[in-house]
Amino acid sequence: MSAAAPSPAVPPRALSAEVAALRPRMERVSRAIHAEPELKFEEFAAQKLLTEWLAEAGFAVAAPAGGLGTAFVATHEGSTPGPYVAVLAEYDALPGIGHGCGHNLIASGGAAAAIAAVRALPDHPGTVAVIGTPGEEMGGAGKIRLARAGVFDGVDAAVMFHPADRSLTTRHGLAAAHLRVGFTGVSAHAAKSPWEGRSALAAAQLFLNALDSLRQFMPPTARIHGIVTDGGQAPNVVPADAAVDLYVRDRTAASAEALVARVERAAHGVAMATETTAEVSETGPMYADRRNNTVLAERFGQTVRALGLDIVPGDPATPAGSSDIGNLSQLLPVIHPYVQIAERGTPGHSEAMREAAATAYAHDRTEIAATGLARVVLDLLTEPGFLSAVRAEFDAAEAV
Ligand SMILES: [Zn+2]
Ligand SMILES: [Zn+2]
Repeated sequence: MSAAAPSPAVPPRALSAEVAALRPRMERVSRAIHAEPELKFEEFAAQKLLTEWLAEAGFAVAAPAGGLGTAFVATHEGSTPGPYVAVLAEYDALPGIGHGCGHNLIASGGAAAAIAAVRALPDHPGTVAVIGTPGEEMGGAGKIRLARAGVFDGVDAAVMFHPADRSLTTRHGLAAAHLRVGFTGVSAHAAKSPWEGRSALAAAQLFLNALDSLRQFMPPTARIHGIVTDGGQAPNVVPADAAVDLYVRDRTAASAEALVARVERAAHGVAMATETTAEVSETGPMYADRRNNTVLAERFGQTVRALGLDIVPGDPATPAGSSDIGNLSQLLPVIHPYVQIAERGTPGHSEAMREAAATAYAHDRTEIAATGLARVVLDLLTEPGFLSAVRAEFDAAEAV
């Protein structure tokens, strides 16, 4: 599947040397972001650290970008026209946990990759960009918002890596709808005249039971999970308002949407049974399933394997989560490989992963990942056959 590379414009040793020279700054930036975790769309300190570094390295920086205060686009124009390749940087943290997803490594490694690429080939054709994509966690949908604002128009390919407890060139991601089901009833005294009330909480309970009844009759790849976000205010009042927040996921957006329609019918059926009303709304945009580009992913794999990283494609049968990279992967060729920075079995979004994301080992691995991304960027710019093979795979998937 992967085209064997002709002799590259920048030899592997020269590229590794460029990334190694950037290692001290990369690690400083990473540790500073890690030490000051910022939640979605509040990542101003991380944005400043990254854009200052990129500006010093000769990139033209636009910040904010695409209507998001903490996004940025840093571009390095080449000497001749050519492809536009973007490295993506995520830098948001999780509430209560901090950098338990290791986005400090994504951001600093991504910037290092782009800077190394242009240092290794200052007269490169085309454009190398680092696009700062804030708000990936908590349904922030930063990449979806930036794409809607046109930030990815004209981008030929986008690359990033994600830290993990194992190394995978590809991995699938589920489509996910983010829903809120609100029930409205009638309040009443819970002892003196409950018959005058209509309980929204009873509707929420019945709704969760309805989802459990539905579960046996949905595809085994689907996931429906939620919490009660409003269950009333006082035990002696029949609750007039209640709400359930839930995610509906499956392998494709179409299948997830079909399930959403069934969930909506369940909500309205429950409302009828409890003499309440139901309103279904979205708490954020739908995350699309991930379309992996194996030509791109395998070039990254070859590069990091040569640097000692044991990396294989992910098994499509294993359970997965969802990310806004899925939506981007439907618009243009992308890679989102995983690089092991923590002991196998370390859960994502955990305190253990947060600690792992600040070790020397994690930064050694980020250096390798940055070299892999820089290689993919340079080959996309300088090897026309590579970009056309990447594009052909993307177009073939589009035609399905
Ligand atoms: Zn993440
Ligand atoms: Zn995460």
